[in-house]
Amino acid sequence: MAHVLLFPFPAQGHVPPFLKLAELLSRAGLFITFVNTEHAHRRFLASSPTIDRLAGLQRFRFRTIPDGLGEEDPRLFVHFLRILESLRTRSREHYRELLAPEDGHDPDGWPPVTCVVGDGMLSLALEVAEEMDVPVMLLRTSSACSVWAYYSIPKLVETGDIPFPEKADMDELVQGVAGMESFLRRRDLPGLTRHAKSVADPTLKFLMTASENLARGRALIMNTAECLESPVLSHLSSICRVIYTVGPLQTLLQNFGSCRPDQDVSNSTAASNSASLWQEDRSCLKWLDSHPNKSVVYVSFGSVTVVSREALVEFWHGLVGSGRPFLWVIRPDMVEAGDETAPAELETAARERGCLVAWAPQEEVLAHPSVGCFLTHSGWNSTLESIVAGVPMICWPFFADQQVNSRFVGEVWKVGVDMKDLCGRSVVEGMVRKVMDGGEVGEELRKSAAEMSHMVRIAAEEGGSSYTNFQKLVDHIKSLSSQKYQGSSNK
Ligand code: UDP
Repeated sequence: MAHVLLFPFPAQGHVPPFLKLAELLSRAGLFITFVNTEHAHRRFLASSPTIDRLAGLQRFRFRTIPDGLGEEDPRLFVHFLRILESLRTRSREHYRELLAPEDGHDPDGWPPVTCVVGDGMLSLALEVAEEMDVPVMLLRTSSACSVWAYYSIPKLVETGDIPFPEKADMDELVQGVAGMESFLRRRDLPGLTRHAKSVADPTLKFLMTASENLARGRALIMNTAECLESPVLSHLSSICRVIYTVGPLQTLLQNFGSCRPDQDVSNSTAASNSASLWQEDRSCLKWLDSHPNKSVVYVSFGSVTVVSREALVEFWHGLVGSGRPFLWVIRPDMVEAGDETAPAELETAARERGCLVAWAPQEEVLAHPSVGCFLTHSGWNSTLESIVAGVPMICWPFFADQQVNSRFVGEVWKVGVDMKDLCGRSVVEGMVRKVMDGGEVGEELRKSAAEMSHMVRIAAEEGGSSYTNFQKLVDHIKSLSSQKYQGSSNK
């Protein structure tokens, strides 16, 4: 009997896609153990009814392990290396015990874990499973294009693009990422490579190891669709034996649910499937209801981005100057330390023209007819959610994979514009006008966004590539359990 243990990195950009995959696998009839750190689980439980609902599913259980960090530790994603190190050293035994209890007895009488789906960024998930001889698949929660760019770091070092030369021309094309030579500029390389002073830089080393690890999994699972990233996927397939593109997971979950009326779950809507570290402020949906179709600019920089007060004010003036109503997510921890208070003029004018919330039900917001564009930090989940909704983007990437994603949005998929490295008020205003106004550029973007939305939705429908790949993934997982336990009573 197949029993899958899923173990994501404890962050907003990772746990929700893992939960979606876990729910899909559960609906396919597999036993699911979902591992969260205690700290992340407490936060998700406090703000995401989904987690409660999932815990109520048959053959679906949560297990938590300590992350080894102090109670008061802010666990900022930007310090992910420290979080990873703590997990690797202090959570190891807890994870090992979940994977294979020392006394050999599962407390719920479940069969042993037959497959781990580990986060591609979390080497612990992979290492311990290998030690225990449990097959591992890896899920990368970022785009294939960024995973390929990360994989290409050694080549970029060879071509002299990394570390960035002093006074580097940021607009120069780089030659080290195969297939992207004609459009990937130095400024589009993953943000984490910008500050590396040498190849010994710990972040660079981490990125290179994570890339090498990809080949160690039985398969690589990706929240993307073939129609979006086919050329990059063919490069990736040179390093990973088997790749399952099963995205967009949110759409697949909706479709898979509606085709399986026998399953004991409520209907999948964007609302019921969201999972958040912050409490969603749903009042903004009412505010959206009061605005005409495609009139509102939705602004959110995800769960990690931190901006200076100066940048915040520039965005603010740009948005007001554009004359468009806006819905803006400003997390309590989004403004740089010491600068936390929102400017008074921002608060006042927001009441007249905008709606400010600390956290929004983003998938529902993007699906709302009054949203006309998304000013985003280009995190992969946000990018994919915007593509599904057919909403054109204005990209202002902060770090990590976002620099690559935004280049693809602007230059390859042409479903948005990229204002990378700029945030002056006139730039913001100009970009909003360009995308929202009735001119040629706006029209083209809306058309491409609608086409791309159609394509990815089809991919996740029965017979589509992601839907079919998911079925293959389930078969693959089942085959691992029959190989491992051949002849045993659990078969
Ligand atoms: N999100 C949300 N409400 C918000 C802002 C973000 O639900 O107000 C969700 C968003 O839908 C996405 C995730 O948080 O699924 C952010 O992930 P992403 O990969 O875009 O960026 P990260 O937070 O990892 O930088």
